[in-house]
Amino acid sequence: MKIDLHVHTRDRSPCGRATEEEQIRAAVAAGLDAIYFTDHYHFCPSTHLAELNQRYAPFFIFNGIEVTADGEDFLVLGQFDPALERVDWDYPALYQCVRGGGGFLILAHPYRYHTAITADIEQYPPDAIELHSYNTPPSAEAEIRAIAARLGLRLLSNTDAHSSERLGNYYNILPDGVCDEAAVLASLRAGQIELFQSDLVAVR
Ligand SMILES: [Zn+2]
Ligand SMILES: [Zn+2]
Repeated sequence: MKIDLHVHTRDRSPCGRATEEEQIRAAVAAGLDAIYFTDHYHFCPSTHLAELNQRYAPFFIFNGIEVTADGEDFLVLGQFDPALERVDWDYPALYQCVRGGGGFLILAHPYRYHTAITADIEQYPPDAIELHSYNTPPSAEAEIRAIAARLGLRLLSNTDAHSSERLGNYYNILPDGVCDEAAVLASLRAGQIELFQSDLVAVR
């Protein structure tokens, strides 16, 4: 399964430029099998998400969220909980909420805003970190790999696409046979992930 775990839509992200249907169609056209919507502070309503999944099957659209905590952006997957839709998270509280709710916690685009990671991931390690994305500085790759090795974090490749021409340039390849969200999350946790980044963006 080819999956991008970090996609925004104009429908719920003020900074998004493409509609959710434009993002889905671009992902299908790029050969992906699934995406997560990770709009800022908002989940996709579950009945609407079910309609989209029905309309675009066998393509999968899963429900995630992006929130900011202690100066860093985090993605939460696998935990559809309106309590996550808060704008005033501190990172230890977010960490506890995700651990209590069984979600998968990702540090998005490290070193995008600061020369150091401002949330205390040493004390509260997330599950994964975005090694590649449009907003992860390529110059930080060695440092990100070192952090991931030290803290036991999975490495990921996602677009953070706010517009549809970006879909397909970064994604994760999960083992054949992964065909529902539980299997996606199990593969991520097990580190059964092959990272893809397009030659178009590999050298920037
Ligand atoms: Zn945004
Ligand atoms: Zn984002």
